[in-house]
Amino acid sequence: MNREHGLEEASEPSPAAHQSEDLCCGGVDKRNKVVAFKFGGSSLLGAERMLHAARLVRQAAKVSKVAVVVSAMKGVTDHLLSIEKALLAGKLVHARREAEVALGLHLEVLEDLRLDEETDRRMRHELELLGHDLLHEVLSWKDGAASGESSDRLASFGERLSARLFAAALQQLGLAAVPVTSSEFVLTCDTFRHAQPHLQQSRQRGRKILLPLLEERAVPVVTGFIGATPDGRITTLGRNSSDFSGAIVAYVLEADELVIWTDVDGIYTANPQESAEAQLLHELSYDEAHALARGGAKVLHPKVLPLAAESEMVVWVRNTFNPQARGTRIGPPGDLSDALLSGGAA
Ligand code: ADP
Ligand code: ASP
Ligand code: MG
Repeated sequence: MNREHGLEEASEPSPAAHQSEDLCCGGVDKRNKVVAFKFGGSSLLGAERMLHAARLVRQAAKVSKVAVVVSAMKGVTDHLLSIEKALLAGKLVHARREAEVALGLHLEVLEDLRLDEETDRRMRHELELLGHDLLHEVLSWKDGAASGESSDRLASFGERLSARLFAAALQQLGLAAVPVTSSEFVLTCDTFRHAQPHLQQSRQRGRKILLPLLEERAVPVVTGFIGATPDGRITTLGRNSSDFSGAIVAYVLEADELVIWTDVDGIYTANPQESAEAQLLHELSYDEAHALARGGAKVLHPKVLPLAAESEMVVWVRNTFNPQARGTRIGPPGDLSDALLSGGAA
């Protein structure tokens, strides 16, 4: 990451909050509105950022039902895949040490979250159990490089660890939050590393798991990136695919909107970290966003768009570190208030 982020408290976590916080609007109880928030790896890097992101969720949860999808903390998936490389090179001791480093990193974040003693103890136990599974994965490694099956199991630990930590951050702020491993409902083919989800089956299974949580006003914190074959083998949907997982969860829940929270103010004409001329785009159609994503705009995974278009959900790309900015709206043509905002809020 090439710039420092100030973490101001958000006053507008979701474009839904452009509206007032009245709970009734034309007879419709806005608390029944469902939004899916996806947080990328840089938004989750460390306890301070997790708590900041959790405040955005808390704010939105005042007026909507919120489901969260998380990436691994920034750098963790690369780290896990470097363990695979070490294993393939026969460097078992190194691989084992790096697995311990990965667990240690998450335990440090846990400590920095400063949970109450009881929750901290429970969380530590949960993370250590996952760490134990990770170590077991390393020690029982069988070279399955061709199929990618072992690789996906290894890579899945990043999101499994971050989902638990993020749920703890939400609990720390007083919200009921439940970590959900997406392999419980995102059913995929067995093309490891690039698995394709079976959307209808995932939808059916996902609704059974997620809807009761939303009904209780608990926030499900779902792992991005991960699915499973029908016989229960963990798969991943491709690098950078947690955005797609966000869209899958939004689709499963028939969410009104999906917000991709990232580290820039929205989608630009070019990578704003690389080009001083890059212009923020306020409003895009699904096709326009798809073309930009396919053209390499890493800020949004291209697979989000066809799914969003099919279910006509509005997708926002917003900056976790600058939540006052409106972000980019992708969807059917906006109403007048959106059009006015898009001219004024950048
Ligand atoms: P996250 O971890 O939140 O998923 P990513 O690193 O995957 O974030 O995507 C955000 C990054 O995408 C930005 O920091 C930016 O450097 C890059 N990027 C590339 N092209 C664009 C673009 N056209 N508009 C905005 N960001 C872009
Ligand atoms: N953690 C995964 C990756 O680094 C997925 C994601 O972050 O979107 O590719
Ligand atoms: Mg990304």
